[in-house]
Amino acid sequence: VRHWTRPNAFKAQVNENDFKLVEEDLSEDLQQGEVLLESVYLSVDPYMRIYGDPIGEHKTMFGEACLKVIKTRNGEFPLGTLVLANSGWSTHYLSKDGKDLRSIPYDLGSLSPSLSLGVLGWSGLTAYFGLRILEPKAGEICVVNGAAGAVGSLVGQLAKQKGLTVIGFAGSDEKCNWLTNDLKFDYAFNYKKISLEDAFKKAAPKGVDVFFDNVGGDFFHEMVTKHMATHGRVSICGSISNYNDTEKHKFPQINMDILMRQLTIRGFTVYSFAKEFDTAFNDMVPLVKKGELICKETVFEDFDKMPVAFVGLFNGANTGKAVVKASSY
Ligand code: NDP
Repeated sequence: VRHWTRPNAFKAQVNENDFKLVEEDLSEDLQQGEVLLESVYLSVDPYMRIYGDPIGEHKTMFGEACLKVIKTRNGEFPLGTLVLANSGWSTHYLSKDGKDLRSIPYDLGSLSPSLSLGVLGWSGLTAYFGLRILEPKAGEICVVNGAAGAVGSLVGQLAKQKGLTVIGFAGSDEKCNWLTNDLKFDYAFNYKKISLEDAFKKAAPKGVDVFFDNVGGDFFHEMVTKHMATHGRVSICGSISNYNDTEKHKFPQINMDILMRQLTIRGFTVYSFAKEFDTAFNDMVPLVKKGELICKETVFEDFDKMPVAFVGLFNGANTGKAVVKASSY
């Protein structure tokens, strides 16, 4: 088994040298109940930058993967079964009793199993529930940043389907063209080139009703203090612009701005909706199968690319969901 470890604490800007590839033997002599799996697709996600855990050369980076059973002494998991597990950045994984393995909770049909890590996994669930708590209504104006990413690209599409005017912000002209041409966003702005002030003069001069925030930091601050409409709602999904910070941003007077505009700003975690995941999948699986939800992926071929794929999240290398393909299925 090969696995990526993180021997030292991250310094400010994460980079590929923060990780070390370690190779170890894994016994193929299985005990009753054990399942040996090989990673097929592995997910890289921004949260991996801010969680502390793996330090030391034998501590594997954590993370979700879609794996196939390659050897089994557990009747519940026959050879070839695809499952999900929090098995980390590893080529292989040994489950002692299968309790840490999760079946894919819907029929993938001819869809790629990688989607179980993206649109039909945590990214999709995050977009679905994070948008729902905003109580979006047809005719309202929705802003999403990180708009060409895994979560953001779905938020915008789901909001369009609900009849909102959708304004996306992303980090390149190419991503913005994809958002307006393919995903049918009403507006997409390259935040590296245009100020929010100028963007909203054109796209939302009367203010924004719902704001799904993936980026945080200055973007969040400026949205809340200048561009939200009265009774606007904000969903704080993430704060990727801060994940590499050494010192937290400060938001002077932000409480007064929130109070005066009577905004609802609600933090949430996707896990708190666990009881409703089935509802989300019932809604979204048919949309994906019919091609009504476009779910682009940036696939990095080869397990060795884990750090490259991960670091890419912080310089915009991915469009849609970033995944690593480690083996075939
Ligand atoms: P993405 O696929 O969107 O990948 C990250 C993207 O963020 C990059 O492609 C880049 O796009 C953009 N980005 C990186 N750095 C910056 C920056 N400094 N300023 C602005 N944009 C930046 O990741 P996900 O869709 O997986 O995650 C999106 C957000 O959702 C993250 O903040 C994540 O932590 C959060 N999240 C929260 C969950 C929850 O339960 N609350 C669950 C899952 C995710 P660009 O080219 O546009 O700059």
